This record gives sequence, C-alpha cells and structure tokens, in this order.
Amino acid sequence: LLHNALVELRGNIRVHCRVRPLLPLDHSPIRASPSFTHTCHTHPLSHTPCLSLLQDTVLVHSARPGSQVLSRTFEFERVHGPEDSQDAVFEEVKPLLTSLLDGYNVCIMAYGQTGSGKTHTMIGSHHGNSAASASGDQEGIIPKAASELFRLIAERAVDSVEVSVVEVYNNEVLDLLAKDEEGGAYAGVKREVITTATGNIEVPGLAHEPVSSCAEVMRVLGGVLRVRAQSPTQVHRDSSRSHLIVTLTVTSRSANALALARRLQSRQQPPRAPAQRDFWSPRCARRATAIATRGRSAHTSTEDRPSSPASSAHSSPFSSPGPSPCPSPRTSISQEPIRTRLQLVDLAGSECVGVSGVSGAALWESSCINRSLSALSDVLGALADHRPHVPYRNSRLTHLLQDSIGGDAKLLVMLCVSPTQRFLTESLQSLGFGTRAR
Ligand code: ADP
Ligand code: MG
Repeated sequence: LLHNALVELRGNIRVHCRVRPLLPLDHSPIRASPSFTHTCHTHPLSHTPCLSLLQDTVLVHSARPGSQVLSRTFEFERVHGPEDSQDAVFEEVKPLLTSLLDGYNVCIMAYGQTGSGKTHTMIGSHHGNSAASASGDQEGIIPKAASELFRLIAERAVDSVEVSVVEVYNNEVLDLLAKDEEGGAYAGVKREVITTATGNIEVPGLAHEPVSSCAEVMRVLGGVLRVRAQSPTQVHRDSSRSHLIVTLTVTSRSANALALARRLQSRQQPPRAPAQRDFWSPRCARRATAIATRGRSAHTSTEDRPSSPASSAHSSPFSSPGPSPCPSPRTSISQEPIRTRLQLVDLAGSECVGVSGVSGAALWESSCINRSLSALSDVLGALADHRPHVPYRNSRLTHLLQDSIGGDAKLLVMLCVSPTQRFLTESLQSLGFGTRAR
C-alpha cells in the first residue's frame, strides 16, 4: 500500500533524461545514421561536452567562438548521467511494473535524436543494436521490464501475458508479428487503429504471441528485429525512421482487489479535477494549483476526448470492455478478465531532418516523422496543461498510444541526449520537448 501511495504521488507523466557517454562516433566525421542529414557542426570544439548535470538538472552551455554564449537549465524528475548503468536507469522504472499489475496502463518511451541512445536504453546493445559493447549489463528497459514483470507475476494470479509488436512508419501501423499462410514472417501488415464503442483503443487483427518468460519475449522481439532489418522491401530504410512499439498485455481473471476497486471507481466517479490529481514535481503542483484556481468547472472535462464521443471522460485504462451498469466488486472478481497494457516505445529520431533538397519518398518520410512527433508533443502538452481537448487523433502514433498515455495511465518519457556541442541544437530540442510534457 505504501508503495502504491508513493507511485500515486508521483503523478501520471514523468520525464527522465539520460545523457549518454562520449563515444568514438562523437569524434568521427561520419554521421550517426545514413539518413541523418542535418548539417553537423564542424568546429574543432564540436565533440566537446556542452552539458553539465547537477542532481536532476541539466545545464546546457555553449561558448563556441563566434557564436553567442548560451546557458540554459532544464529540470526533470530524474537525470541520469553518462556513468549511470542500465541497471541504475531501470531501478527508476521498476515501480511502473507494479503499477501495471495494480491495474494501470503504462507507457515508457524513449525520445531523442538518432545516436542519442534510445535503442540502447529501450532494448540494449545486444538484440540487433549494431555497436554492442563488450561489457556486461547491456540489457535495456524492455528485457529488464519483461523479466521484472514475470518475477512479479509469479506472486500473483495472472492468466496470461501476450506480446505484440508494431512499427509506425509514414503514419501507418505495421503489424510486425503477422504471419503468412506457411507461418513465415511478413515485414509488416498494415492495420487500423480504432476507438471501440466503450472508448478503448484497439487494433483489429493485430497478431499476438502468448509469452511466459522474459526469454520468450526477447525471442519474439529478436525475430522481429531480424526480419525488420532484412526485409527486401525495406533494405534502404533506416530503423530509426520509424517508431517501434512493443506491447505486453496482461490478462488477469482473479485480479487483485485493488485493481478491481480502481476500475469500478473509475467507471462510477466523474473524472478527477486537476487539483485532486497528485503531482510529483513542485512545478507541476504549482501549475495544478494555478489551474484549479482558474476554475474547476472548466476542467471537469479534462479527459474528454471530443473526437471520440464513445470515449467517456472516465474511461478506464483497461482495454477489455465490461458490463454496464457495474456489478458489485464481489460478483465480478471471478468473472471479468482485467487487461492492462505495457507499451514500450523506441521513437524515430527526433532530429529535424532538413526538407530542403529532399524530395519524393524521403520528403514524405521526414515530414511524417516531424508530424507524428509534433502530434505527440501536442498531446503531452495538452495533458500537462489539463486542456479540455487532447488531440490524440492527429496522428496514428498518438491514437495508438492513447490508452497508455491519457486517462489515469502512467507515462514515463525518457529523453535521450548526446553530450557534445555537435548535437547542441538537437539536445535543446529534446530537452524542450521534455519540458513541455511536464
Ligand atoms: P539511437 O537509438 O538513439 O539512434 P543508439 O541506442 O543506437 O541510438 O546509440 C548509438 C550508439 O551509442 C550505440 O552504439 C550505442 O551502443 C551507444 N550508446 C548509447 N547510449 C549509451 C550508453 N548509455 N552507454 C554506452 N553506449 C551507449
Ligand atoms: Mg535506435
């Protein structure tokens, strides 16, 4: 209970920042990715660090000769430095797995420019991430979260866990687990995202695989990453040009009382006004107070989703539709399966890819990435400001993630940042994105 109270206190959206160490690629003139076409700073100081960390604050400073001196600070719930291990990063993420089993949908996403460490943070430096480091502890959040989930599940009554993997590329959702008639893997079958009559987000026809251990999750994911890299139609495509979303769906029939109580409560009660929501950071608390004093009535529809009338303001974070009116807790404990989702997202590189000089498919690809990431920023900004309308439907990415980032779902944004002057513009952009989401 104490644990849950602490998790509750931390609020719904948290932003962490991870600054990766200086790497050989920082000294090389070669671009971090073939499609990373921004102009690199070629000044000799471009590989010198431009960030300092002070507790949970990032200080950005730049004094390149000939340019203006810049000094800005950004504060987050947690800042990880270059020396922080994968284990240390995961320690901060771990409580979200308990939240998942307590009935919350959870989303963990890595945001940052290509080469800033998103895939390292989410997947790790094995599993198809090219430059694997020789040292141990290289597993990222996905394998560690799967392992923690199955450890927790061993102590609870959980019916099943399923994994699905999709990629959002050019504003299309591609199912990476779909199989052809002979059981061979496709590189991706297009799927639609729908809002059901009960207000849940579903992807009809999406392939799922039942999993019962971390090793099985990683086997499925490893297969997907191999197919994704080898697909003949996509040979020239860089994986950092699409968003990868791994979803673990946990179904529990004899769910614990807490999850059930929360679910019933969320159906029976009007949405919490911002002032009643709990916030972790003093800044958020200040903003909540300011909003509350502006007038509560304006915020009774905070979690309205006008674009989907069926999606009620008090829609539960659970994806399984339930009977209405609600039965008493006792009668439903053994009847209704409760499903919660953990969505783990490795976003496409956030660098502003120059649109001048590119045309055709490359231009379309770049503009799709820019639009989906700015749609994500708009959604997170609207949630943070408790605006009455949250524009989830502006992109497939945000529509797909709606259940795991809105309502009372718990979202962790991991900003990945490169430490050098060379990526100063991209780092400032990422830090700005994170600040807007808080
Ligand atoms: P992204 O997915 O953002 O494009 P990657 O995760 O592929 O970036 O990281 C780029 C390179 O930097 C990879 O070789 C990766 O192993 C390395 N790297 C990233 N973050 C770290 C870190 N915290 N410690 C050690 N190496 C890292
Ligand atoms: Mg990557």
